[in-house]
Amino acid sequence: MSSYKCSNCKKEITKENNTYFPFCSSTCRKVDFYGWITESYKIPCEDTDEDDSYLDAEEQYTEKN
Ligand SMILES: [Zn+2]
Repeated sequence: MSSYKCSNCKKEITKENNTYFPFCSSTCRKVDFYGWITESYKIPCEDTDEDDSYLDAEEQYTEKN
């Protein structure tokens, strides 16, 4: 049996029987998940070009199928 710490609140958790591993609860999982989402949204809007090329690729993909 190994012990781990919740990635959010640092409470001790076990990997076994832990649905929310590496978190202690659904709450901590959500907090971390939304924190991560927020972080990625903070990345500036400068990658508009990348968004365009992504749309192009998706269009081509759709046409092929
Ligand atoms: Zn926690």
